[in-house]
Amino acid sequence: RTIVVLFTRDLRIRDNPALALASRHADTVVPLYVADDSPPLPPNQRRFLVESLTDLRESLRRLGGDLLVRRGDPVEQTLKLCRLLATDGIGMAEDYGPAARRLRQRLAEAAEAERVGLRLFPGVTIVEPGAVRPTTGADHYKVFTPYLRSWSATPWRPEHEAPQAIRLPADVTGDDPASVIGPVEGGSSDVVDGGETAGLRRWDSWIDREPDYPAIHDDLAADDTTRLSGYLRFGCVSPLVVAADPRTPEALVRQLCWRDFYHQVLHGFPRLATDNYRPGARDAWVDDEPALRAWQDGETGVPLVDAGMRQLRTQGWMHNRARMVAASYLTKDLGIDWRHGAAWFDRWLVDADVANNYGNWQWTAGTGNDSRPYRRFNPARQAQRYDPRHEYRDRWLRN
Ligand code: FAD
Repeated sequence: RTIVVLFTRDLRIRDNPALALASRHADTVVPLYVADDSPPLPPNQRRFLVESLTDLRESLRRLGGDLLVRRGDPVEQTLKLCRLLATDGIGMAEDYGPAARRLRQRLAEAAEAERVGLRLFPGVTIVEPGAVRPTTGADHYKVFTPYLRSWSATPWRPEHEAPQAIRLPADVTGDDPASVIGPVEGGSSDVVDGGETAGLRRWDSWIDREPDYPAIHDDLAADDTTRLSGYLRFGCVSPLVVAADPRTPEALVRQLCWRDFYHQVLHGFPRLATDNYRPGARDAWVDDEPALRAWQDGETGVPLVDAGMRQLRTQGWMHNRARMVAASYLTKDLGIDWRHGAAWFDRWLVDADVANNYGNWQWTAGTGNDSRPYRRFNPARQAQRYDPRHEYRDRWLRN
């Protein structure tokens, strides 16, 4: 039996259920990634992707395997390879956004037509959307706290070790991801390195310090959260591995639960990136191009907002507290549509994904899951509380 493992948002060998099962049960395994350029990823994510694929390829080669990289339509490319290698099945991680659903649907139909089996595996979230449901009969939770309660009571699947070995079919060789995907131009100057090796190293060094996460979580000057978000976005690090580590603080597990929460929101409400989630929420916004541009450029004159927006451009990442303040300022002070803000974050953040970015934007704009939708973050008071010595502000406004 030959199985194609189609990597998508699970660019890792540790705790990768699709890869683990294929390597155990198939005679030969063909690890494949298809770069779909419609639409192309923005530069920060593209660079992170190339680095992550390069690292994945090296790990697979150490196990005796390799990584094939193609460009184009994932369905066509995958089926073409299946035909060429007379493959019996395809394994991939299940993902929950509308684009992922369309892909899964098309792939399922094409695979069936060619009598190739398609099997989906968990791994993108800790608890899969749909696995916990409200007793009201609704298909997903709208409010975080009751979700957290059910989520915490749900057993997690067992972790999968990295495979011992990957056996490739004869005459199959891999590809250099950088050559297939092509050069990356533009983007931020100071982004973390992509890949499972870098992600796990970051995690180990962070958790080894035994940080007091609840105390530092909102401390802008310390800016010492895990910074795993990009690795979680591309699946270089499994969220289950982080949550199940016995050293992981409870408060961090709760943040990972927010991540699962937004994935189940997106699963239940696929229009999260385009439509207000909350019925009756504000839908008349101010059209103010110069104000939007000033916000994007970190030139609003509001120090904490500008500091955050400059960190975003420089690092492809922004502290969570600054994200909330910058998003609240755009939507609630300037009255500009959250979709503009979220699109700008999409363009720069390494960790941008539909569930977390649009879920959090809608939360902050008051159109989403916040049970206090009219709250506004006062930037001056937020700065006093979370950056009292102006260290974060000065660090980024000097740039
Ligand atoms: P840590 O504090 O170390 O948390 C660990 C992990 O928990 C994060 O990597 C992330 O996966 C998850 N997490 C933490 N907070 C949240 C949250 N509020 N919602 C969902 N998951 C969370 N996060 C993204 O991953 N992608 C986005 O596109 C994104 N856009 C955001 C937009 C706005 C307007 C706001 C207010 C928040 C957004 N967040 C997003 C959530 C949060 O800011 C980041 O996950 C966090 O700052 C990442 O840094 P970290 O890895 O050091 O987080």
